[in-house]
Parts: sequence; C-alpha cells; structure tokens
Amino acid sequence: MTILLTAAALMTLLFKRSVLDRLAQMEASVMRVRAGSFTPSDTDARHDEIGRLSRALDEMARAVGDNTDRLEAMVRERTETLEHLAHHDPLTSVLNRRGFEEAFAQEQNRALRTGRPTALALVDLDDFKTINDTYGHQAGDRVIIEVVRRMSAVLRNYDVCARWGGDEFILLIADSSLASLSAIAAKIVTEIRGAPIQLDRTQAITATVSIGACMVGPLETLSSAAAHADAALYAAKHGGRDTFVVYDPALHGEAGHPKLQAGWSGEGE
Ligand code: GH3
Ligand code: MG
Repeated sequence: MTILLTAAALMTLLFKRSVLDRLAQMEASVMRVRAGSFTPSDTDARHDEIGRLSRALDEMARAVGDNTDRLEAMVRERTETLEHLAHHDPLTSVLNRRGFEEAFAQEQNRALRTGRPTALALVDLDDFKTINDTYGHQAGDRVIIEVVRRMSAVLRNYDVCARWGGDEFILLIADSSLASLSAIAAKIVTEIRGAPIQLDRTQAITATVSIGACMVGPLETLSSAAAHADAALYAAKHGGRDTFVVYDPALHGEAGHPKLQAGWSGEGE
C-alpha cells in the first residue's frame, strides 16, 4: 500500500515537473508577449512536444516583436513627414506660415529671457505678376526659389526665412537692432537685384524685392508686428519698389492705416 502511494506521489511529482510546470512557464511567456515584451524568455530546450511548442512560441514572439519595431519605425517616419509637410513650403522647403508662427513664439520667449530684441521683415517680389505673365508660372517658381536661396545666404543661421504666402516672405532676425536690421534688409535688396536669375538655359531676368521691416517689442504679438512690417512694405512699394523701409509709427501711422507719406526708403543702402 505504502509502495503504491509512494509511486502515485512520484508520478504526480513527475507529471508536475515535466508537464504542468512547463505549461505554466509557457503561459507566463504568453502573458509577457500580451503585455508587449517580445524578448524570448528561458526557452524550454527539451526535445518533446512541449519543448517544441515553447520554442515555436518564442520564435513567434520574436517575429511579432520585429514587426512591431518595423511598424513603430514606419509610424515615426510618417509622423515626421506629415509634421514637415505641415510646417514647410513644398516649393522652397522653408517654413510656411504655420511653421513661422511657432518659430516666432519661440523667438519671443528667447528675446524675453535674454532681453535682446527681435526684428521682423516682410519681403515681397516686385511686379511678380508680370514675371509670371511674361515668362510663365514655372519661370516664376524659379524666381521664388532663387530669391529664397539668396535671402537665406544673407541671413545668419539662427535667423528664420519663411514663405508668408504667394510672392511674399517673412524674416525673423534675432538679436537685432535698427542698424543691423537696416543692414540686412539693404543687403537682401542688393543681392536680389545684383545678378540676373537664370530661368532656363537661355533666359535670365533681373528681379527685385521690396521690404517692410520693424523691430518687435518683447510682448508684441505676431499679428501686431506683421501689421507694422506690412505698413512699412506698403511705403516701400509706394516709394518706387526695389527698396526697404523700416517701420516708424510717426511716418507710417497705425498698423493697417499707413499714411501715404514718403517712408524711410532705402536708408542704409
Ligand atoms: P507688387 O510689386 O505690388 O507686389 O506686384 P505683384 O505683381 O508682385 O503683386 P501681385 O500680388 O499682383 O502678384 C503676385 C503674384 O504672385 C500673383 C500670383 O499669381 C503669383 N503667385 C503666387 N504664388 C505663386 C507661386 O507659387 N508660383 C508662381 N509662379 N506665382 C505665384
Ligand atoms: Mg509682389
């Protein structure tokens, strides 16, 4: 009787070790995979059915892990692409209006911390409609691309050049003063006018831009600063184009209602 009981206990122990414990280990592996951990656990190395099943399970977990990594990388890449598209102009690759709004907010925070003022400039191609009408829209696109290239070459790498819309660009000039703002605006006007822009293998044209610029107050909003720059741009266009004007409230009036007096045209050139 005792022998029988001992044999039964041994059989139960053997069954537990060789079947139940290993199944419990597999169940724990499945739970880990379900919780998102795809690294293989202690693989059951035995050559019976449970061992083979355990190794197959590990392989499956590794494959699911690999696919999950690939999928996550793809989602990350797509998100970055969408993010880039949402903030950049497809023609010139510079920031678009939305991208600029974020850059402006960051720059205003920096200016507030450092106390070093920021300046803003609106740059608009002169008689661009005529360029499009005469040479075609594609030629117009080349002019836009080249103007952005020349402006970017003048700016320092912590300044920002963005496309505000159509043939208009907006510049954010960090750590600026009236003197440095005028110098940069004058340089841009000269650089655009200075050399013809190649439209194709045979044709080149000289384009010009007008610029309206202003210093930005530390707590000033983008719409207020842009309105000041716009009033100065209006004066630059009225002053004959191919020039820059720095906003002066006494001369250009309240934003949106510029007085039609001669602006501070071409100063610094
Ligand atoms: P002004 O000197 O007063 O600025 O005159 P303008 O002819 O430059 O001004 P207007 O606003 O009349 O013309 C801007 C033109 O820019 C009209 C529009 O068709 C053109 N335009 C806007 N976006 C693009 C673009 O992406 N590519 C091209 N080629 N043309 C564009
Ligand atoms: Mg224009």
